[in-house]
Amino acid sequence: DNPIQRKPDWIRVRAPNSPVYQETRKLMRDNRLVTVCEEAACPNIGECWSQRHATMMIMGEICTRACSFCNVTTGMPKVLDTDEPQRVAEAVAKLGLRHVVITSVDRDDLADGGALHFAQTIARVREASPETTIEILTPDFLRKPGALEVVVKARPDVFNHNIETVPRLYPSIRPGARYFQSVRLLDDVKALDASIFTKSGLMLGLGEEKMEVAQVMDDFRIADVDFITMGQYLQPTPKHAAVAKFVPPDEFEEFARMARAKGFLQVSSSPLTRSSYHADSDFAALREA
Ligand code: SF4
Ligand code: SF4
Repeated sequence: DNPIQRKPDWIRVRAPNSPVYQETRKLMRDNRLVTVCEEAACPNIGECWSQRHATMMIMGEICTRACSFCNVTTGMPKVLDTDEPQRVAEAVAKLGLRHVVITSVDRDDLADGGALHFAQTIARVREASPETTIEILTPDFLRKPGALEVVVKARPDVFNHNIETVPRLYPSIRPGARYFQSVRLLDDVKALDASIFTKSGLMLGLGEEKMEVAQVMDDFRIADVDFITMGQYLQPTPKHAAVAKFVPPDEFEEFARMARAKGFLQVSSSPLTRSSYHADSDFAALREA
C-alpha cells in the first residue's frame, strides 16, 4: 500500500470556517453547481472561498478521462444540463465577481466535447455581468474538430488549458491526452483571436527534471502562451500518483525567475499555486498595469 505522504511545513493552509466561506458554499449548493475547489480537494478552499473566489466546474462531476493525479470520478457522464449556463451566470452575479474562472470535466462522449455548453456559459455570464472578466479552463478537445472555434468565438478574456506535466510523464500521468495536442490548442487560440490571453500550468513534484520544465516553458513561448502557473502536486488519495518530491519554495522561486526571463506576462509559481489561485487579483493587476 502507498500511504499518503506527510506534507512539509511550507504547505500550510487555513481551515475553512469563515462566514463568507459558508455563504459561498451555500450559494453553490442553492444553484446546484459543482466546484473544482471541492472535487479536486483543493488545499486553498478556505482562503479562496472566504474571498468568494470559487471555480465552477460545468458539465457534471463525472469525467470520461482518468488522469492519475486527479480526484474527479471517472465514468459515463449524464446528459448535459441545459439550464446550467444560466445558473452559473446567476451565481457569478450574486457573488459579484470581477473575474470568474470556469472549468469542466472532459466530455469525450459529446460530439463537440462540450464546446457549445462552454460558449453558452460564457454568453450567459457576459449578459448578467458585463463587467466581469471570464477565464475558462478547458479540456483539450482531442478529436473534436471545430470545437475550439466555437469556444474562441464566445470570446473569453483568458483561455486556460493546463499541460499539467512534462511530455515524458504523459503516459503515466495524463494517459488520455497528447502533449503536443495541448500545446497546439493554445497556439490555435492565439491564431484564431490574438486578443484573448492564453494561460497554462504545470504541477511539480511528479518526477520531472528542471530541464524538462524549461523545455515546456519554451514550447509555451513558441505557442505564444501569456500566463504560466506552477504548483506542488498533492496526492488526493493513496490510489493516485505518488508525490515524487516536495519541491521547496526556493525552487519554485527559481522557476518563477526562469519564466519571467522567458517573457511570460504573468507568472505564478509557489507550492500552493493552482491554475485558478489568485487568478482574479493577478488578472486585475495585469489590466491596471
Ligand atoms: Fe478553488 Fe482554485 Fe482556489 Fe483551489 S485555488 S480553492 S480550485 S479557486
Ligand atoms: Fe481530472 Fe480533467 Fe483528467 Fe478529467 S480530464 S480526470 S477532470 S484532470
